[in-house]
Amino acid sequence: MSGPERDDDVLAVLIVGTGFSGIAMAIRCREAGIGPVAVIEKGDGIGGTWRENTYPGAACDVPSHLYSLSFAPKADWSRLYARQPEIEGYLQDVARSHGLMPLIRFRTTLLRAVWDAERVLWRAQTDRGEILARALVSATGGLHHPAVPAIPGRESFAGPSFHTAQWDHSVDLAGLRVGVVGTGASAIQVVPELAERVGHLTLFQRTPPWIMPKNDRPIPDERQSRYARRPLLRWLERVRLFWRLEVPALLGFTRVSRMTAQAEGMARHHLRRSVPDKALREKLTPRYRFGCKRVLLSDEYYPALQRETVTLETGSIAAIVSDGITMADGTHHRLDALVFATGFDVVGGFQRTEVIGREGRRLAEAWADGMQAYQGITVAGFPNYFILLGPNTGIGHNSIIAMIEIQVQHVLDCLKALGSGRRAIEVRAAAQARFVERIRNRMKESIWQAGGCRSWYLDAKGRNTTLWPDSVVAYRRSARRARLSDYRLE
Ligand code: NAP
Repeated sequence: MSGPERDDDVLAVLIVGTGFSGIAMAIRCREAGIGPVAVIEKGDGIGGTWRENTYPGAACDVPSHLYSLSFAPKADWSRLYARQPEIEGYLQDVARSHGLMPLIRFRTTLLRAVWDAERVLWRAQTDRGEILARALVSATGGLHHPAVPAIPGRESFAGPSFHTAQWDHSVDLAGLRVGVVGTGASAIQVVPELAERVGHLTLFQRTPPWIMPKNDRPIPDERQSRYARRPLLRWLERVRLFWRLEVPALLGFTRVSRMTAQAEGMARHHLRRSVPDKALREKLTPRYRFGCKRVLLSDEYYPALQRETVTLETGSIAAIVSDGITMADGTHHRLDALVFATGFDVVGGFQRTEVIGREGRRLAEAWADGMQAYQGITVAGFPNYFILLGPNTGIGHNSIIAMIEIQVQHVLDCLKALGSGRRAIEVRAAAQARFVERIRNRMKESIWQAGGCRSWYLDAKGRNTTLWPDSVVAYRRSARRARLSDYRLE
């Protein structure tokens, strides 16, 4: 921005990111008459994770009639679990039909955000200049920055290599010897697709995941039109899906219990039925408790591993060399291409953009003892700053969209309070501390800590700062309405 700053240059709200959360926030702001609003997006299209993850087989593992915005229903989801292109298309349709496109500034990356206490606004410094806004909403998501492990020799690999979230569609993998590192949610989707088309696939597994049947199937045309004609039926289906996923959470799935053993029995049964070979089954049997890492759904992963052209390697990787991967025991796997299905830098990702709040305090400093936010949304010392899908708001058991919509409502309450003559709203440090204490107590004996595994849910100190340790219903009760007594209004 150039020239003297005027109040007309100041947005009411600047939203960063155009994934599910950014889009939901922008729509709800407009509906509530809050404006002017702008959304910046570093990419050249909307969709967030659903625009970035285009690896073959990318799909959702939450049923689509639930994995969609409550205020933007879609009657004609083509499958029980929609695939990436359909979800990306849905988000584009929602943004267009709600008139959001003119608000979005594409190819604009937030570099730094600084609170200007004198003018009571955020200075958002982007690679396209500075934007001023009363309130700043971070909607950049947690699963965003690819984590590629620092395996010795990684740079020396001669063939193409890329991360699942940065799929290089210019590379034709047909007939090649392809290595896939990792066996998480992305890997179990990409492996069956690759196994069909590559010459040979070697899958490098460090820890086997717990896998349950997915039972994915197309939704017949007749059912789709019935949902279009009768919105109540579609809504009832959504409600049914929600409660089916929510019940285990209400029964206390966050602790090791009888339910854990029952679920392990079901997953072992799925493995036994799918993999007759005992030696392979052994390699695929997890040695930690069900739920410690994200539980995966697939009907195609185990069959893919039994193809003649697929090798499951469970040894430890010693080095990547120009023509493949060498294992600690000296085995060498010759490879033409390498895929890293190695997940994301969740904790570090949140701290990549410099956010500087009151009295020059950096968000990274505020989080030196672990990421934390009141209701996972607001941070003391950072007025008018809101995080969607912030610390301790991730879930693995139900639709994350439900969590997003609860957070959007909370932020709206805060923004409405700002609209009524107040200029700044900031969570009280004591309220934040009480909330964080509650979370930490609940986490102490949780399955993620006590289940005998190490996952991306935990930070360097072994603390779970990513997941909400309870049901969606409990989060709704806790966070949906902003309790203004927990906030200081200026
Ligand atoms: P992830 O769950 O973090 O899995 C990463 C995999 O890479 C793990 O198997 C890990 O092994 C392995 N790995 C990491 N570093 C390694 C190393 N140095 N050597 C060998 N193996 C290594 O990542 P993701 O599969 O991309 O999934 C991330 C999250 O994205 C999921 O939890 C989920 O929330 C989301 N997601 C969702 C869907 C969906 O259908 N909704 C699909 C894809 C992703 P260890 O287990 O031993 O660490």
